[in-house]
Amino acid sequence: MNKEQKTRVAFTIATIGAALISIFFTVRRRRKQQESPSSSCYSHSEPKPQWTFKRVLADNSYAPFKHLSCNASENGSNLHPFEAEITALLRNDQPEIELSAEKLELKDSYVWVETEMQLKELVNVLSKERVFAVDTEQHSLHSFLGFTALVQISTQQEDYLIDTIALHDSMEILRPVFANPSICKVFHGADNDVLWLQRDFHIYIVNLFDTSKACEVLSKPQKSLAYLLETYCGVITNKLLQREDWRQRPLSAEMVLYARTDAHYLLYIAKCLLLELKQLDNENSCSDDKFHFVLEASRRSNMICLQLFTKEIEASPGESAALSLFSRHQSNQGFPSVSNETQFLYTVRQLCTWRDLMARIHDESLKYVLPDQAIVALASRPLASHAEIFNTIVQIDMNAEIGLSSRIPSPSAVVDSHLSDIHHLLANELVNHGDIYSVILQKCLGQNGSCKLNIFNYALLVNINPRPALSYKHSSLKNPKQHSRKASRNLFVKKFSCKSPVYHNCRIFANDGRLLCYCDRKKLEWYISRDLAKLIEEEPPAIMLLFEPKGRPEDEGNDFYIQSKKNICVGCGEGSHYLRYRIIPSCYRIHFPEHLKSHRSHDIVLLCVDCHEVAHVAAEKYKRKLASEFVIPLYVRKVIHPGQETENPNDEGGVSPLQLRTAAMALLRHGPRMPLDRREELTETVKRYYGGREISEEDLERALQVGMSPHERRKFEKKRGISFKHSMENAAAMPKRENHADSAPSRMSNGDPLNFDTLDGSYANAETTGDNREDSFGKPSLASDLAVDGATSNGNTILVTTTDYDEDSTQAKHNSKLSLLGHGPHGKQVVDHLLKEYGEDGIREFCQRWRQVFVDALKPRFLPAGWDVKHSGRRDFGDFSIYNRDKKQLLQNE
Ligand code: AMP
Ligand code: MN
Ligand code: ZN
Repeated sequence: MNKEQKTRVAFTIATIGAALISIFFTVRRRRKQQESPSSSCYSHSEPKPQWTFKRVLADNSYAPFKHLSCNASENGSNLHPFEAEITALLRNDQPEIELSAEKLELKDSYVWVETEMQLKELVNVLSKERVFAVDTEQHSLHSFLGFTALVQISTQQEDYLIDTIALHDSMEILRPVFANPSICKVFHGADNDVLWLQRDFHIYIVNLFDTSKACEVLSKPQKSLAYLLETYCGVITNKLLQREDWRQRPLSAEMVLYARTDAHYLLYIAKCLLLELKQLDNENSCSDDKFHFVLEASRRSNMICLQLFTKEIEASPGESAALSLFSRHQSNQGFPSVSNETQFLYTVRQLCTWRDLMARIHDESLKYVLPDQAIVALASRPLASHAEIFNTIVQIDMNAEIGLSSRIPSPSAVVDSHLSDIHHLLANELVNHGDIYSVILQKCLGQNGSCKLNIFNYALLVNINPRPALSYKHSSLKNPKQHSRKASRNLFVKKFSCKSPVYHNCRIFANDGRLLCYCDRKKLEWYISRDLAKLIEEEPPAIMLLFEPKGRPEDEGNDFYIQSKKNICVGCGEGSHYLRYRIIPSCYRIHFPEHLKSHRSHDIVLLCVDCHEVAHVAAEKYKRKLASEFVIPLYVRKVIHPGQETENPNDEGGVSPLQLRTAAMALLRHGPRMPLDRREELTETVKRYYGGREISEEDLERALQVGMSPHERRKFEKKRGISFKHSMENAAAMPKRENHADSAPSRMSNGDPLNFDTLDGSYANAETTGDNREDSFGKPSLASDLAVDGATSNGNTILVTTTDYDEDSTQAKHNSKLSLLGHGPHGKQVVDHLLKEYGEDGIREFCQRWRQVFVDALKPRFLPAGWDVKHSGRRDFGDFSIYNRDKKQLLQNE
């Protein structure tokens, strides 16, 4: 045996040994539990520190997070309570930052704050300071959302460590000093701390100086705190301590030292960085077009404060985790191949739902409850006994934990207490009685539930609403007609909804660690294959760009582009199917000036079939309203006799080119053989085009050419004789849309990859891949209008909706077809009118009107945070971007 083999054998023995020990202890634990079956869950016997909290702002229910309200009458809002104060700071040309801290060694003593009295004294001290430094430590393994376990505050005189577990319910005392604009708070990398303080205490920061932002502005080679501590203070820290269990009390001496160090030197470091910034400002002062370094650092810092904490709420619990797991499995990244993929996905989903709910009920992290790899292993092969399930999980955890801390017990206490659930779930026996959500809730938290009810989980039970939708709302099937409607709806869903998740939630980080955007895997691969980025996280995958992108999403004062997008209907939260919906109808948008189209991702959302129908109907109605408002008729209309025409655009006697052409075609081909009522219906359609007069065969033939480009017309003329002998499909159906799955990466490769704007392709991609229905959306009830039905086409039902294609990206190529889908010249005329009368502001206002129509019609509850009716449509350079000096000026004048 060579050395390597020996090591491997020794290692295997150690692994098996550890597994056996683990099994031994777990079996003992379970025996103990079985003695008292009514309280079989570990939650009864293992108390957690967070159960002492009396008030919890972010519990584990699906209810959205409520922010502190600035208005006393409201209770909880989704607005930033200090937006005005922060915006005022952002607009201030000359930020007054006074930092005079001297470098001080750590004293032997510090103040441990654990009573309300002590906290009040601290507030007294802080309210007299001009500046203080802050850092926080979190606990996230045994908590669903994580919680703040420690807050470190340092003044020039003292280091304070606040026990935020003991003082959880009193922390609000600190709100005023944190929100006081005349006291500067120094953080290093405050992005997360800002959100954590909101989540746990409704503490909002106004007036922030972030030393990592200062580093960024100064183009420091590194911007980690460890680097700053070493260069400015000669202090070496062990950053591994950030992963310690910060719930423990008392804290070890080492942890106290780490925690103090994180805050103690910040005032001095901030002073040094500020000096450098000022120096650069002075060196630059003679030039006209000068870059304000201090101002920029201050603005970038305070931009962080505008962020708002949100709970991630998905359509059905665990759905996004399941899809991510499944797509990983499909791309075959180290997972065993599975013969029955449908069964596999089904089981993965069930396990993810179970895990999500169990994590919420027990206030544990997903990772702790059941790691992803264990879910894949459990779903990959049939497992019969409890022991098999148990051993599978232990084995996976053993393999996964090599090299990492092995303190996470395997399997988790949650799995251990509820192993029979997994057993039933894998045997498909858990959900016989209803949906898995209710079954688990009942079993765990119901009247004789096995688990402890507490402040984090009771809202799951009490507030059944809002609860996420798990499957479609079941419509009652009372009569056959309804049944067939349902069947055709299901068919429609099957045929036209997106075939795979639209948003992959892969992430792109800048080289300073800031999140730039979410995107799909293709884009990640594009960057990596060109050595423009490195992979920094496996799942969900994340890359870091190796170059400096030309702008940051946060520069724009709009965090929309960095919000994780969920694959759910933004209307009702349905997650089992969705279609893309364009809030601003293409018939207008394709005529917008190119640079105003770039904001597409904001105005393309996912909707389920039902919400799609509601939105579509409202949009069609609004188009008619616009037609009357602008006096631009919606439909093409040919009027034979001059003088007979009615110029009243409200007159809805017109007909869309598509409708006209399909009706004419059907009449020409099958007219004589058609059932009478169908023939009359189609004849009415064509008559509407001719102003209501009787029509001849010749009129029908002419109607066929409406909406065709000259080129198309020539082709049509040439083919006409033959086409009538062929099936309808050849003549009436339009070409199948091309697959644009590759368009985003290829577009980037043509363009300038160093321009951040190309990152917008993440959502451009969302609209160029997969199916998309919009104007031609044919819900079952509409299908008869759009389709030539069975009777007219030898039993071939032709849904016009199958011929959809992406109108934007193929605009040039397919321009000739556009007139067929829209309403003839209406869209272009409206856009031309707006541009002529109001310029680009007119277009922006027009978009806002459409968003309002959408919101009014659907009352969407699941729009991504940051989505805004008032969305500006600017995405060239942000208002606070260092590349944008003009706009800075503009903003100040606003
Ligand atoms: P810090 O201010 O750098 O000490 O980090 C604050 C908190 O963020 C820590 O208490 C951890 O909960 C969390 N944290 C930061 N980095 C990591 C990491 N690499 N792994 C796990 N947790 C981390
Ligand atoms: Mn820290
Ligand atoms: Zn339990």
